[in-house]
Amino acid sequence: MPTSITRTTRPSFLQQDVYLNKYTTWNIGGPARYFCEPGSISELQRGLDFADETGLNWRVIGNGSNLLISDGGFDGLVVRIGPKFADHVVDGQTLDVQSGAPLYKLADVANDYRCSCFNFVTGIPGTIGGAVAMNAGAFEYEVSDFLTKVVYLSEGGEVNERDSLKDFFEYRRSPFLYNGEIVLGAEFRLDRSSEQPSMSEILSTRRSKMPYSLPSAGSVFKNPSHADKTAGEMLDLVGAKGMRVGDAVVSHQHANFILNDGQATAQNVQNLIDILQERVYKEFGVTLVTEIEVI
Ligand SMILES: Cc1cc2nc3c(=O)[nH]c(=O)nc-3n(C[C@H](O)[C@H](O)[C@H](O)COP(=O)(O)OP(=O)(O)OC[C@H]3O[C@@H](n4cnc5c(N)ncnc54)[C@H](O)[C@@H]3O)c2cc1C
Repeated sequence: MPTSITRTTRPSFLQQDVYLNKYTTWNIGGPARYFCEPGSISELQRGLDFADETGLNWRVIGNGSNLLISDGGFDGLVVRIGPKFADHVVDGQTLDVQSGAPLYKLADVANDYRCSCFNFVTGIPGTIGGAVAMNAGAFEYEVSDFLTKVVYLSEGGEVNERDSLKDFFEYRRSPFLYNGEIVLGAEFRLDRSSEQPSMSEILSTRRSKMPYSLPSAGSVFKNPSHADKTAGEMLDLVGAKGMRVGDAVVSHQHANFILNDGQATAQNVQNLIDILQERVYKEFGVTLVTEIEVI
């Protein structure tokens, strides 16, 4: 008797064996078994349904500017929310942006409305989704300072909204990080009372302090809350600048940045991270915690 076999059909927009180094600012990362860049919520849901039905793990990424993806890649589905999901609407008081839009768009659009409250994001190469999930920030501001609403896909696959969020965000952490929810869009308040330096001033300040010429993922370690020095200061004091494992090298300009000086592997970076953590612990008794996420 013939046996009937049901197979879940792979949606055509799901690609196979896609190298992720193209999708991280470190230019590091092995292949994802499946990969997609949804252009709509229904496409996203179909991708996740496929993962669910076939028992695959999945991960969402934005611009990959805070990620160290292993050389072995990811044996599951990687969903990149990027330029295909990047519209925005302004009503004069608020700015609604889809999560795949680049973060600088906040500042760019707000400036058209004579509002500089998002200028602090200039030079942070993330997406809106990644910045909300990470509560990205600089110059004493964080994205959550101006966030009024987040639209997200729940673990159960429903589109939901959440407001009154401020109390749930912490330094480089949000309720949307690692919890199975996907940020679809965010609403921000245009706060004209927050006057910040211009985008070009901010960019030149950043360029004078941080390396932008070689691939990196920004600051590797969080600043410890209980120490009187920043992670970068402690790393500088233990002689981190210029330390190298393979092509992974600590920036001479900023000791909290590890650069890809050629063909660095994730293993090179990880080994360097381990050495730096050990040195700082020995010298200061402080365990540095990574800001970047390892996949
Ligand atoms: C040169 C340089 C400078 C930087 N400077 C700063 C800085 O000043 N301040 C700062 O805070 N960061 C900085 N960063 C780090 C990084 O840009 C931010 O953390 C950024 O917010 C990450 O956004 P992303 O889209 O690249 O997210 P990714 O790196 O792709 O992902 C980061 C995390 O967010 C999650 N995520 C991504 N998109 C979504 C989504 N739609 N829904 C739910 N979760 C999601 C991912 O799963 C992952 O856990 C810098 C990086 C570089 C390379």
